[in-house]
Amino acid sequence: MHLSASMPLQEAYSMQSLQNESSSFEAPALGEPYLLTPGPLTTAYSVKQAMLRDWGSWDGDFRAMTAQLRRHLLSLIADTKGEFDCVPMQGSGSFAVESMLGSLIPKDGKVLVLANGAYGQRTAQTLRYLGRDHVVIDKGDYMPPRGVEVAAALDADPTITHVVAIHCETSSGILNPVAEISEAVYARGRKLLIDSMSAFGAVPMEVADIRYEALVSSANKCIEGVPGFGFILARKSELAAAEGRSHSLSLDLHAQWAHMNKTGQWRFTPPTHTIAAFLEALRLHELEGGVAARGARYARNRDVMVSGMRNLGFETLLKDGWLSPIIVTFFSPAHPNFAFDQFYDLMKTKGFIIYPGKLTVVDSFRIGCIGRMDEAVMRAVVQAAGESLAEMGVDSGAPPEAAIAERAKLAA
Ligand SMILES: *Cc1c(COP(=O)(O)O)cnc(C)c1O
Repeated sequence: MHLSASMPLQEAYSMQSLQNESSSFEAPALGEPYLLTPGPLTTAYSVKQAMLRDWGSWDGDFRAMTAQLRRHLLSLIADTKGEFDCVPMQGSGSFAVESMLGSLIPKDGKVLVLANGAYGQRTAQTLRYLGRDHVVIDKGDYMPPRGVEVAAALDADPTITHVVAIHCETSSGILNPVAEISEAVYARGRKLLIDSMSAFGAVPMEVADIRYEALVSSANKCIEGVPGFGFILARKSELAAAEGRSHSLSLDLHAQWAHMNKTGQWRFTPPTHTIAAFLEALRLHELEGGVAARGARYARNRDVMVSGMRNLGFETLLKDGWLSPIIVTFFSPAHPNFAFDQFYDLMKTKGFIIYPGKLTVVDSFRIGCIGRMDEAVMRAVVQAAGESLAEMGVDSGAPPEAAIAERAKLAA
């Protein structure tokens, strides 16, 4: 896709962009930095352009857009039997998670939360707010929750009704083993809900391959839209059973579902421009080749970026087998001249916004692989990282011994 012929402004700006000449995508049109962050992320010009017109939320044209959005998202899980439905929900991703948890888990249910980072912790915190009984398997900063542990926990407590898993735990970038978790859950007759926020659209979640009751994601992750709503893909039987359960009027998933099916409308003001942008993002997703192609591009982004960073001496927190194609955590270099804030500013002046780390044990930072960018951009990221180190007087990205010792735990 080459859009610049019809877009003089964008063309003018991309002329200024030196680092991105071999990229197959347009550079950010206003010369803003690439967002190497897991959403909001760098979006296509045509996605932003789709927001230039206003839509009446009640109007038939907009209702058709909502219907198209729901259909398209459902097609990504290949629900050929028609057992699932898609319910979009206003707000950021956490609003959609809260809507899913508060609606699909009965008031007398009990949840097993699989936590290995900030988003697992947030799920537990949400359940505390909702007053839903729960237990947590807390694996710390990044160790993956394994199927056998889930099996043991469920065997030990027959009152657990639901398990909540985080697909890609964005705080470390680990791709959690949801397939083996699902097997353990359903072998024991329990139900699985998945926070696939940062993975959906780039990692396959077809219902024939992995069993779950619902997954949740949002507009500004791997579909590459702009922020403003999330969506829940859920089994219709679970949605039907959710009537009257929600603690919240605005986050009531059953009410949103029933109203949308009846009227074609959102219950309260929808983020109209975000939805228009999202439809364009979905069109680009399909044009690229759907989930498989999107995942393959992100994996190439990751591989090019990780190997380049390793050449500079940097080391990843995770072994290759656990690295998601979404975001990668690197240990901060041991060199005394390295300071993350300065590194961040230097990277930004070179056109890249990176992300601080979230590990509690050792210093780290993260670089995202998702958004409207390809391996040519990732090579420019590595070059910028090398130049930034040189400007700080840091001769290698090699981490301290303590970081390597921490990582050894994952292999053990
Ligand atoms: C982004 C994200 C969320 C939602 O975060 P918001 O800031 O509310 O959009 C939830 N879970 C995971 C795993 C995420 O990556």
